[in-house]
Amino acid sequence: MLTPLNGKTVIVTGSSKGIGKGIAKVFAKHGANVAVVSRKLKDTLSCVGEIQDNDGIAKGFEADVASYESMKILAEAVTETFGGIDILCSNAGIFPNSSIENMTAAEWDTVMNTNARGALFGIQACLPFLKKAETGRIILTSSITGPVTGYKGWSHYGASKAAQLGFMRSAALELAPYNITINAVMPGNIMTEGLEEMGEEYLKSMAATIPIKRIGTVEDIAYAALFLASKEASYITAQTIVIDGGQVVPESLEAMA
Ligand code: NAP
Repeated sequence: MLTPLNGKTVIVTGSSKGIGKGIAKVFAKHGANVAVVSRKLKDTLSCVGEIQDNDGIAKGFEADVASYESMKILAEAVTETFGGIDILCSNAGIFPNSSIENMTAAEWDTVMNTNARGALFGIQACLPFLKKAETGRIILTSSITGPVTGYKGWSHYGASKAAQLGFMRSAALELAPYNITINAVMPGNIMTEGLEEMGEEYLKSMAATIPIKRIGTVEDIAYAALFLASKEASYITAQTIVIDGGQVVPESLEAMA
């Protein structure tokens, strides 16, 4: 059993819904004080409410990961509320679709500035507080898309998710002297509000391509993040965990038969 997170504070960016909400709820269940973050405070309320209804500790905050100023204000507000920051789950991300033929510089920049530069700004803002933590932890939500696989219309997204991992390896070396680890989870297809909207037929055909024969849950990702945030994972840094039900493994359709 992992050491509970009681007394530890975690910031989960992009936790008003989807994977971030799953991470926030699992960390709260394991005792952490959770800062639930999205760009709109009102959107954090359902996650905060669900945590509090289960006797967890959470508070909603409004911040934009694409802005260093906004992240600095967030880090200070969370420290004022909970007394420090022990864990940063850098999870907020966007995945608009755009073909190479039509992609504008603004579309490229928005995705890179949120997904890749957003990780830098979150860490920069939290670093003064993470340095004071007994065991500072950073968990990035990357993806299989980019580092391992591709998808039409997601070249900018894939580049941003691979960039997170390149960033992570050098960051790990800079953070290690402060006893701060940084690792990444790499989700496959995870059942979120956005995916649900694609309809039953789409979900069925997608599940058929996954060896475990189901789409992942937000808890599948959250428990991997929980392990990486735990005291027990103190000797793991700059590593990745693919959580995809084996989706990237088959080398051909025949291999799935
Ligand atoms: P989602 O359901 O669309 O939720 C995204 C969250 O990020 C929301 O809370 C959103 O809230 C927040 N957000 C977006 N831009 C932000 C910004 N600039 N500053 C602060 N918060 C921001 O997304 P998801 O599917 O859970 O994905 C979460 C992460 O997992 C992403 O990094 C994504 O790349 C990764 N991922 C997802 C899947 C999947 O199957 N779902 C697979 C692989 C990787 P607001 O819009 O209110 O700010």
